[in-house]
Amino acid sequence: MELKARYAHFVGGAWMEPEGGRYIDSLNPHDGTCVTQIAAGSAADVERAVAAAVRVRREWGEMRPFERGRRLTRLGRLIRDHLDVLAHAESLEIGMPPALARATITGAADYFEYYGGLAPSVQGEQIPILADQHVYTRHEPLGVVGVVTPWNAPLNQAARDCAPALAVGNCVLHKPSEISSVTALMVAELAIEAGLPAGVYNVVTGYGREVGIPLVEHPDVAKIAFTGSVPTGIDIAVRAAKKIMPVTLELGGKSPDIIFADADLPVAVRGAAAGFVLNTGQICFAGSRVLVQRAVYDAVAEGMAAALGKIPVGRDESFPCLGPLASQAQYDKVLGYFDVARDAGMRLLAGGARSADPELAQGLYVQPTLYGEVDNGMRLAREEIFGPVGVLIPFEDEEEAIAIANDTDYGLVAGVWTRDLGRAHRVAARLEAGQVFVNHYGISPMEAPFGGYKKSGIGREKGMAALKHNTRIKSVTMKLD
Ligand code: NAD
Repeated sequence: MELKARYAHFVGGAWMEPEGGRYIDSLNPHDGTCVTQIAAGSAADVERAVAAAVRVRREWGEMRPFERGRRLTRLGRLIRDHLDVLAHAESLEIGMPPALARATITGAADYFEYYGGLAPSVQGEQIPILADQHVYTRHEPLGVVGVVTPWNAPLNQAARDCAPALAVGNCVLHKPSEISSVTALMVAELAIEAGLPAGVYNVVTGYGREVGIPLVEHPDVAKIAFTGSVPTGIDIAVRAAKKIMPVTLELGGKSPDIIFADADLPVAVRGAAAGFVLNTGQICFAGSRVLVQRAVYDAVAEGMAAALGKIPVGRDESFPCLGPLASQAQYDKVLGYFDVARDAGMRLLAGGARSADPELAQGLYVQPTLYGEVDNGMRLAREEIFGPVGVLIPFEDEEEAIAIANDTDYGLVAGVWTRDLGRAHRVAARLEAGQVFVNHYGISPMEAPFGGYKKSGIGREKGMAALKHNTRIKSVTMKLD
């Protein structure tokens, strides 16, 4: 498999040209060159893709779960076999440093293997009621599930949603981000080699308005699994409500990462810095509000500014190297926040500008950035920036830390750094977030449920929880005489 100059949709097990004949350039944020072209889909393309899925949904839904799982596991292995080309494509399309691209795509393979293994575990129950009644439940597939994903870890997020939906017998129509669609298309093609019947795994590319909305509104689409921004999540939820259709929404965050004075400070400083610059800060769970207990505030501010200054920016293989921001729009947005900070007279501790390296002048590179003595009411403490930008917010005691941490519209992730076990559990229990990291900050395990409180979302991905969101329960009551 190799990167092609142009991609059609992948529907019904074959390449399908877009009905409108239009294509979108996918640009490399390192230098602005065109990596490839993807089809600009339309409602007509969605119609054909849903029809392809509908044709095969019974065959796939009634296949022995063990056999379905075996094929998904095989798809996971095929992703590993093609790791180089998949990682290369994402590196080119979104500028993700190669080491990170390989890690996130390996994670995508993990999802197919994990949910492939879990496919036979979805079982109903027998409910004892009366001797002459046999009552049992069936966990049935929904039918056709629409998956809509963002660009920041493209294949990883696609696999997180597609693998559990497929494992329980749904067909999938995936719309990846228009900024990075290639790996989704490559994997849909690999799914045929893995033995998924044609039409089970379809990818239609294009813009949200032109493909996403028709997908959400299509009467034969039974659920949407969406990962992306809050405004789009709201739009999808409103349209879904009109169909009485379930959705899972994995949205944005402005996650607090709390460093108490009793923490192992060097470890906390390094961990908290990596927690908001990973993937150039383009991570939903970025710990971009670092709350620091006043007694160690100066030491943390100094240590973190020094740590950020050592992070390489460019195309380095090291971790956590900062690649470019993924798109011009994202770059302009981050530079805009630098202006907001300057106008508000915020205290700059590191970065605050585009990269000064002349070799990166053609690219969308910014410096890892930190502001100090920030008030939680400031815009940079309230809005999701989606760039390598952190704010340090001082606090006096545990109560104040919890109050500041929870004073946000979001609730995706929170971090706690402390050597006091009692405090760790106490604070974790009171934080309004779907995930809490204690004494580390990063990617939560695939086996644990992942999702948001408040505006960070509805439902849970990962773990067994994702399987439940992809089935519906029927109870059958049978009279025995
Ligand atoms: P986005 O909401 O702009 O787009 C996400 C996807 O939705 C894209 O495929 C887009 O084409 C599509 N889309 C846009 N408008 C649509 C509409 N009206 N109907 C249907 N589909 C539509 O988000 P983005 O800029 O691609 O991604 C960044 C956002 O994603 C950030 O807010 C980030 O926090 C969030 N995110 C969340 C998670 C999580 O797990 N919670 C993970 C990664 C990213």
